[in-house]
Amino acid sequence: MSTRAIDDTRADDRVDFALARAEVASSQLNRLAAERMSAVVSVIREARRHPDTYVVVRDEATARDISFAVEAAIADLAVRLSLSESTVGALVRRGELVTTRALPVWNLFREGEISPENVACVADVLDSLPENEMCDARVADRAAELAGLVPSRFRERMRAFRDRVHPESQTERHERARAARRTWIEHGDDGMAWLGIHLPSTDAEAAWQRIDGIARQLATCTDESRSLDQIRADAVADILTGRNDPATEPRVTVGVLVPVLTLLGEGDQPATLEGRIPIDPETARRLAVKAPSFHRILTHPVSSAVLDVDRTSYRPPADLARVLALRDVTCRHPGCGRPAKRCDIDHTVDWAKGGTTSVRNLAHLSRRHHTLKHRTRWTVEQRPDGVIRWTSPTGFVADADPPPF
Ligand SMILES: [Zn+2]
Repeated sequence: MSTRAIDDTRADDRVDFALARAEVASSQLNRLAAERMSAVVSVIREARRHPDTYVVVRDEATARDISFAVEAAIADLAVRLSLSESTVGALVRRGELVTTRALPVWNLFREGEISPENVACVADVLDSLPENEMCDARVADRAAELAGLVPSRFRERMRAFRDRVHPESQTERHERARAARRTWIEHGDDGMAWLGIHLPSTDAEAAWQRIDGIARQLATCTDESRSLDQIRADAVADILTGRNDPATEPRVTVGVLVPVLTLLGEGDQPATLEGRIPIDPETARRLAVKAPSFHRILTHPVSSAVLDVDRTSYRPPADLARVLALRDVTCRHPGCGRPAKRCDIDHTVDWAKGGTTSVRNLAHLSRRHHTLKHRTRWTVEQRPDGVIRWTSPTGFVADADPPPF
């Protein structure tokens, strides 16, 4: 046997070994995901059974006590696992659905035979069907048969199956689905963002046809150098912002944070929209100088003398509120991304208990986390350096730093 043949055999063995490791690890990951889901569901079940761990209960726990206890427990899990509360909420919802309505799938999951993605899909399908034992059993059996498919194929096949077993008519389902129409924004890199709309297909198709029509017409101009995709995007932006149309001049006010040196053209410290979305210095300079609909706020120097004055009123005056919004950017619960302008300004130490209306005792909290602070055993402390310390009802401590600027 030549040296080369020996080397080749070894290479084959090495590949086989690495493949086996990948397969074993993958199965272990599935099992661990099932274990985590089961543990998270247990925490929430205990919170429902013993809400007094999370909230102060007088006499008998009310439905409200239980609901606050569940919220507090979800927040506790989120900070402990470094996950968002919505992710924990989804784990709970999916875990409860699969463990109660699709036992064969749950068993496969615990044995590592189905991926968390496919389990999530089964849970979502069950969630979209009215509870019905026979129907649940058919979904579970079908999911078990298809368990080994890659998530995209699995989802496709399960969606088709859901259509077959759904007891309601298309019309009834559409009525309900229509209620979930919405728009959303997601910020990306390099000063770009996605704007999405979830619409009834008929409206979406009509809107698309109109935009496409406008774009194709513009594309025939001789001096047009943009691609069709670019023209469509520009046309949508023109319509939605009211740009180039004096009748619908935009009335939006967007806060632009511009470091002074950047504004003077002597520094490249990033400027931000609304305190958190980085924009390039050139755009920032243009907006700060020209655009009247943008609210100009220079980040430096900030006069600390003004900030340190404790106010005598309960309601923070406008300049203090603006400074707080710049400092906090979002809700000050760790991991919460609700923008400050949609939050409440909370006195960390209650005004009634001697807390001052000052930058050191005020913080933005979303309604959700404001409620968590007041209604559950979560406690909040604001330290001199601006760090907000949250302690969960079960004793986990999480610090939320103010974003740097
Ligand atoms: Zn929040």
